[in-house]
Amino acid sequence: MKDFLKLLRRFIPPYKKELFLNIFYNILSAVFGAFSFGLLIPALEILFGSKELVTTQVPWGFSLDSLLTNFNFYISKVIAQYGHERALVYIGIFIIIMVFLKVLFTYLSNYEMIEIRNGVVRDIRILIYRKILRLPLGYFSEERKGDIIARMTGDVAEVENSIMNSLDMMIKNPILIAISVGVMVYMSWSLTLFVFVMFPIAGYIIGRIGRSLKRESRIGQSKMGDILSLIEEDLSGLRVIKSFNAEESATKRFEAENQSYFFTMNRLMWRRFLAQPVSEFLGTAVIMIVMWYGGKLILNNESSLNAAAFIGYLAFFYNIINPAKAFSTALYSVEKGLASMERIDKILLAKSNISDKPDAIEITRFENQIVFENVSFAYNSAPVLNNVSLTIKKGQTIALVGQSGSGKTTMVDLLPRFWDVASGRITIDGIDIRDMKMKSLRHMIGNVNQEPILFNDTIFNNIAFGMENATMDEVVKAAKIANAHNFIIETEAGYQTKIGDRGDKLSGGQKQRISIARAVLNNPPILILDEATSALDTESEKLVQEALTNLMKNRTSLVIAHRLSTIKNADLICVLHKGEIVEQGTHDELLALKGRYTKLHKMQIF
Ligand code: ADP
Ligand code: MG
Repeated sequence: MKDFLKLLRRFIPPYKKELFLNIFYNILSAVFGAFSFGLLIPALEILFGSKELVTTQVPWGFSLDSLLTNFNFYISKVIAQYGHERALVYIGIFIIIMVFLKVLFTYLSNYEMIEIRNGVVRDIRILIYRKILRLPLGYFSEERKGDIIARMTGDVAEVENSIMNSLDMMIKNPILIAISVGVMVYMSWSLTLFVFVMFPIAGYIIGRIGRSLKRESRIGQSKMGDILSLIEEDLSGLRVIKSFNAEESATKRFEAENQSYFFTMNRLMWRRFLAQPVSEFLGTAVIMIVMWYGGKLILNNESSLNAAAFIGYLAFFYNIINPAKAFSTALYSVEKGLASMERIDKILLAKSNISDKPDAIEITRFENQIVFENVSFAYNSAPVLNNVSLTIKKGQTIALVGQSGSGKTTMVDLLPRFWDVASGRITIDGIDIRDMKMKSLRHMIGNVNQEPILFNDTIFNNIAFGMENATMDEVVKAAKIANAHNFIIETEAGYQTKIGDRGDKLSGGQKQRISIARAVLNNPPILILDEATSALDTESEKLVQEALTNLMKNRTSLVIAHRLSTIKNADLICVLHKGEIVEQGTHDELLALKGRYTKLHKMQIF
């Protein structure tokens, strides 16, 4: 319950107006509901023939007494003038009007509630999305993609269905119950007191069942995350699954997860559906006990109520049993929803350890040099970079070479702060990059990777990605520099061609040239090329290499290359080995050393 209120305090404030109206309409609805029930009593009295005629009118006032007496006065008048039958018709019409008003205000209250419900869910979803884009890359190598998707879809839906659904009950039912109980106390406080001794007993029994619902629900949602992760992995790996004939084993893997979800959900729902019959049974039992007790009082003439008023009283009582039942069901639901909210909060409240300092500096230009000063880094415990120092002067091309796994990618990833150094520091023009505004830092750095990252959109939008208002001319110019213009105009719709998921409709070299065009358009002073040509065949490598050479003109570049021939002309070549720079110099200097570089070079010549 405490968690529930905390949740409301977090998400309800933007919807104060709707909440106020909702409560207001609910009160009106409960009041008219009470009137419609109250009118049953004179109707019954007429039917039983126990109606005592009221012959004197009292002044109108805002007290229940004056309302009731006057109402009875007018009914008595109708009975005296037109007979009992006509009076019943009048009361009937009156009840219909009251019920109409009641349902009207119920609808209006729901109308307001809908906006709160959907609004809160919308807000949560965008909060998660924003947070995901802000979280450091490291967060996502720990979490599975499918699980994050599950949190964003399934868990948000669960919060909507259970918490937001219950919110309605949580507001409406207490109001309804309070007003009905007020009337009941007015009718007979001793009977009402008796009723309320029964309630906590029933409530306790109901509460016992709901305990484990939250835990079970949490397990269910995380199982759903596993399933989505599998689907996501398998969809992107379909090619491998087919070529290795792994359909059977993939299906088995999926089946196991699916089956386990089935068992969890069974346990969850068995328990949840226990709530309804138990509360229905207990509710009826309580009513029967009250009927026995109240009936005993009336039969012995010990009660202030007559038989008709007692039936009216029972109607009121019945009127709160359903809301009370719904209220207890809502409490279960909220527990279930809170389990999902916890999972959502794992994302929302995740600490983002890579973020701007409050006094971060906005940098607009790169003037002088980039320096790695005694940089060390580890993803987990094993060190990946060890005391690396390197100075890159403006306009230079620096190449990083070394065997796979030696830490090249890691080293260049530190520059745009995809990760932060563990010790040492990286400076640009003397300023520690951790003191800069991340946005302005990343704006200065262009990135072309082995795996070009494209989106399912037009070629134009892929090139202009991240640029607010690039013109066609600029995009075409960038495409020309990137050697991409010629193949683009040959596609069916030119720059408006859609390139499919991740650019699947293009060849590797074409994808790479589009990602180069994107970098050209962004025009960053600093470039990182991480094995940009490694995945390509010789033919398209030539085209891409040309594009890269164009791109690198007048820029400071950090180039990781597999094929040493492509970096022969670099100003400085660093050989990385197990996270340390073991040799550095120009191509010729390094060959003269006859060390590790020479070995790498020989391997490629043969
Ligand atoms: P290179 O680019 O030189 O081939 P990397 O910089 O990619 O090498 O990797 C260096 C080492 O860091 C490798 O041993 C690799 O296993 C490890 N590594 C790379 N990325 C991660 C990661 N996200 N989490 C944990 N370890 C990683
Ligand atoms: Mg690499």
